[in-house]
Amino acid sequence: MKTIGLIGGMSWESTALYYRLVNEAVKHALGGLHSARLVLYSVDFDDIEHLQRSGDWNTAGRLLGDAARALEAAGADLLVLCTNTMHKVAPAIEAAVAIPLLHIADPTAAAVRAAGVRRVGLLGTRFTMEEAFYRERLVERGLEVVLPTPDDRALVHRVIYDELCVGVVDARSREAYRRVMADLVARGAGAIILGCTEIGLLVGEGDVDVPVFDTTVLHARAAVAAALAGHVVKESRPDSEMDVLLHG
Ligand code: GLU
Repeated sequence: MKTIGLIGGMSWESTALYYRLVNEAVKHALGGLHSARLVLYSVDFDDIEHLQRSGDWNTAGRLLGDAARALEAAGADLLVLCTNTMHKVAPAIEAAVAIPLLHIADPTAAAVRAAGVRRVGLLGTRFTMEEAFYRERLVERGLEVVLPTPDDRALVHRVIYDELCVGVVDARSREAYRRVMADLVARGAGAIILGCTEIGLLVGEGDVDVPVFDTTVLHARAAVAAALAGHVVKESRPDSEMDVLLHG
């Protein structure tokens, strides 16, 4: 089993989910007492959020590049950046290390395409929804992206930072997200990407009439698939979720 390097803390609420999901997937695949080999570098999100707000992406990239180097030195074989937004500085992270960075948009786009959906609604921070680094990656992989209206984008962004990243899960915000997702469906979205690693704390399958793709879950599973590549997975679960994970 390869060692997964998690760059986390953005926020720690979702990094905790990654830790659980990665371990559950390894346990599911290998059984018994197996658990994930991983190293976690957790940043202070307050530092990162200030850099985001001031537009200082170079410093943010340097900081996360340092984290990546520390993980590589600690024995990580591959890197998982536990946030959609900070993939804006993925090139700086990749330049800092020799090990691969598993981009969060890639397993997400693959899962959406595998479900036969082309036109997809995207929820995330305003950086993820409005800037090219994320949307373009989805478009390059054959998807058409529908965004919330400017007012709804502001709402989705605010709920992420003011509530979900500080552990607040509010019923009114859930209702608001349901309305935003229904609007995306009315405008032609055949599925919704939860393109922020905390959104799964608020909404999921059942909150909208189309399939929901949670980037946290897809990213964590893809990390385990990469870590276990070449491994003999328990044969007693031929139609298991893990089988789907490993073999598509
Ligand atoms: N975790 C969030 C994301 O997936 C937002 C926090 C951040 O800005 O990194 O984008």
